[in-house]
Amino acid sequence: MSRLVYINGEMVPSEQATVSVFDHGLLYGDGVFEGLRSYSGKVFRLQQHVRRLYESAHAISLTIPMSPAEMCAATNHAVAANGIQDGYIRTIVTRGAGTLGLDPNRCSDPKVIIIADSIALYPEELYEKGLEIVTTSVIRNHPAALSPRIKSLNYLNNILAKLEGLKAGCVEALMLNHKGEVAECTGDNIFLVRDGTLLTPPLDAGILGGVTREAVVEIAGRAGIEVLKVALTKHDIYVANECFLTGTAAEVIPVVKLDDRSIGLGKPGPITLDLKAQFHELTRS
Ligand code: PMP
Repeated sequence: MSRLVYINGEMVPSEQATVSVFDHGLLYGDGVFEGLRSYSGKVFRLQQHVRRLYESAHAISLTIPMSPAEMCAATNHAVAANGIQDGYIRTIVTRGAGTLGLDPNRCSDPKVIIIADSIALYPEELYEKGLEIVTTSVIRNHPAALSPRIKSLNYLNNILAKLEGLKAGCVEALMLNHKGEVAECTGDNIFLVRDGTLLTPPLDAGILGGVTREAVVEIAGRAGIEVLKVALTKHDIYVANECFLTGTAAEVIPVVKLDDRSIGLGKPGPITLDLKAQFHELTRS
């Protein structure tokens, strides 16, 4: 379906929405992005996503040629112009067209692109039965090489892990960090429940600071559930009572198996189901 795509202040039909082959976003993955979601035409946690986008850009010394407030307005405009109610939004900022060399200083004119589209949901069955995932041999990027907190256009680290997961028949896969601790999944953050407490790796485990992760931490706090952001190992997952993933596209999705070991009773647990229902309420109310 044809969409109107926002590119640097203009709404362009998707067939004509193009960037230069000299754009360093294409040549080197030099740029940043966000994945957002709208519910009933309203973008969920727009400010938080825009903040993360500007932080990612700042971390790679990329100046976005508009203010955060203008970015929020442009996002809402792209959603409205396409008549999107429940949809997915991809915002991209590239370094812009430059030379074939690496030097980002030779790029001018960063491209700001906002694509508002419908969302391809995971099948409902996966939410009811829970996911079976595997640990990949691909470790998450070392934070001193490319911080996972930067949502950069170079997602090969995650794609290589995803390929391994898919080969093992899993739609998601667990990534450890360079210390062998649990980091996150290829496109989702991870949570465990152990004796009624919620556990999730801290940001310094080398993970993306997920917007959904923060929303779930808030929901849990309001429900009086203790949340600990602590280093975790694969063993902690094997012996957890419950496990679930969070992400903009996935929302809250239960995990029932890791590396062929059942987690808890091998079915979605009560705290997971409660948080999933409360997240649903938060986004749809
Ligand atoms: N980790 C990674 C690597 C991701 O790509 C995503 C999706 N953006 C997440 C976690 C979840 O973040 P969010 O809840 O902000 O979508």
